[in-house]
Amino acid sequence: MMNPDVLTIGFARRATAYKRADLLFSDVNRLKKIAKKGKLQIIYAGKSHPNDQSGKKLIEAIHGYVKEFKGVIDIVYLKNYNMDIALKLVSGVDIWLNTPLRPREASGTSGMKAAHNGVLNFSVLDGWWIEGHIEGFTGWSIGPAPSEVTLTENMDTKDADDLYSKLEEVIMPMFYKNKEAWARMMKNAISKNAYYFNSHRMMRRYVTEAYIR
Ligand SMILES: *Cc1c(COP(=O)(O)O)cnc(C)c1O
Repeated sequence: MMNPDVLTIGFARRATAYKRADLLFSDVNRLKKIAKKGKLQIIYAGKSHPNDQSGKKLIEAIHGYVKEFKGVIDIVYLKNYNMDIALKLVSGVDIWLNTPLRPREASGTSGMKAAHNGVLNFSVLDGWWIEGHIEGFTGWSIGPAPSEVTLTENMDTKDADDLYSKLEEVIMPMFYKNKEAWARMMKNAISKNAYYFNSHRMMRRYVTEAYIR
């Protein structure tokens, strides 16, 4: 059902409230309008903890949007998210979307995995992306920079607004009209993010900054 020529957004991680899997659907009509200007397809995956009621509600809500967007945007929710599916997703989609509620994202490991595969991150500036993000070079940010964020303030509207405008005005035009620029950014993600955000560095820093201090 998926078309390899259509801009494909991936969103896969534990289904739990702070990850805001449904932020993309904050304004359903706006998203439908954007999808009229250029094709989009979205792949979701992620399980919730059995006792995480709001996580389960999120999965249910996304399934509702899958139905609501039939014929407008092809959306699938893959079952049984695991490392095999993760490998296919972080190497197979075009955009890796992450929309956590600041400052809850300790790291956001899957974004680094995407960068290793030249998949471009489109993410809230939280976790590793605060350091890895160079706007329009290694990927794109969503919403205000951490320094501008009051942590008690609800950022849902601001974040969603930025997500929609960048998707419509920057990301989709580049994907469909400037493949060269897109390929350059994929190379930047590998050369500027993957060379640094890897497990060698992680182990080195655990050893020198945590284990043997
Ligand atoms: C990488 C990975 C995660 C962690 O992803 P985050 O972005 O850190 O939430 C979770 N589950 C699977 C199967 C993974 O491969």
